[in-house]
Amino acid sequence: MKTATIVLHKDKEKSLERKHPWIFSGAIHKIINETAQMPEDGELVTVVNFKNEFLAVGHFSNSNIAVRVLSFEEEEINQDFWNKKIKSAFQLREKLNLTSNPETNMYRLVHAEGDGLPGLVIDYYNGTAVIQCHSIGMHNHKNQIVEALKNCFDKKMLIAIYDKSSESLFKQSQTEIKNEYLFEASKPNFVGLENNCKFNLDWINGQKTGFFLDQRENRNLLAKYTNGKKVLNTFCYSGGFSIYALTAGASEVHSVDSSQKAIEWVDENIRLNGFHNKHQSFVSDTLQFFKQNCEEYDVIILDPPAYAKSKKTTHNAIQGYKRLNATALRKIKSGGILFTFSCSQAISRKVFYDTITAAAIEVGRNIKVLHHLSQPPDHPVNLFHPEGEYLKGLVLLIE
Ligand code: SAH
Repeated sequence: MKTATIVLHKDKEKSLERKHPWIFSGAIHKIINETAQMPEDGELVTVVNFKNEFLAVGHFSNSNIAVRVLSFEEEEINQDFWNKKIKSAFQLREKLNLTSNPETNMYRLVHAEGDGLPGLVIDYYNGTAVIQCHSIGMHNHKNQIVEALKNCFDKKMLIAIYDKSSESLFKQSQTEIKNEYLFEASKPNFVGLENNCKFNLDWINGQKTGFFLDQRENRNLLAKYTNGKKVLNTFCYSGGFSIYALTAGASEVHSVDSSQKAIEWVDENIRLNGFHNKHQSFVSDTLQFFKQNCEEYDVIILDPPAYAKSKKTTHNAIQGYKRLNATALRKIKSGGILFTFSCSQAISRKVFYDTITAAAIEVGRNIKVLHHLSQPPDHPVNLFHPEGEYLKGLVLLIE
């Protein structure tokens, strides 16, 4: 297929040669297109340097990130390409012991740039693959992605495929994109296992693809600190950290979220795991909860939503993280443990660390850093795309 050619300015190919998968609009010298028109949003384009030498193939987008690279090789983006990419993502999860693990049957199968597929996220929930596209270009290939998934999985292991792209493409798309099943061999399983903890699954009504798979290893670490402890899980969503704490023998767990729906979900998950008499949930803003509640906790988890959606909002986000962490640091028992996170891509690990330090200085308690946390390996970071590292966390001992 003939595609439009994007010619870069002289010397603007450097980041591509270092395999960074984005081309910013400012790097484009000219666009050569047979129809003499701008390529459409999502169209496949070929990228060349100033000397007309091939650099990459990718999806065009009429925005600041003008091309997202699919391949640095001169190859056709056909069914074989999708089969190969999905298979390779699957093989990594196989290596991570996630694809046939009796204790965990949900994981991230495709993590966008981390798996060489910018704009595509696929989460696997006990037989159902939930696709979330973040670019029109990726969504244009949804049928090939479905085929590739069917090719990759053993029949018994793939019951359904659900497209959950409506929200992520809402701003970009001219036409309405529906959330829908693209394949359904039988009724999906709506309960999944993560390290033997049971969770109700709801990719249709839940946030993002339904569950925050990126905290799996951090929840496991939390379990090591919660036996016999009183735990407060703020921004709890469906209660991942709460269930792990109770499984590990916490004496009592309080879960807080501002969303009524999330709290109903936590309560269901608590019942599903049989812990109702040691748990209480609260629909509340976290800061408000700290203000009104005088109880003392041994362990506190702070896992707020991304406070900085872009570089422009980092200043306010830093103030937000500082206020939240200072409040928790004031409240926590002596000898207590704080698990604190930021999932803002625009806040670097160093900035997050410095913000926590600023909060600690304000509070004036002695604090030791026990762990530096990150996202798990089924959310891999492409070394050439450091922007892919979004989740950072610290475990602190407060003396
Ligand atoms: N820790 C969770 C994921 C957190 S997602 C897990 O392991 O699954 C962030 C959650 O914060 C969402 O459920 C959202 O409803 C909630 N939230 C957003 N703003 C809040 C606020 N001000 N106070 C309490 N919860 C809030």
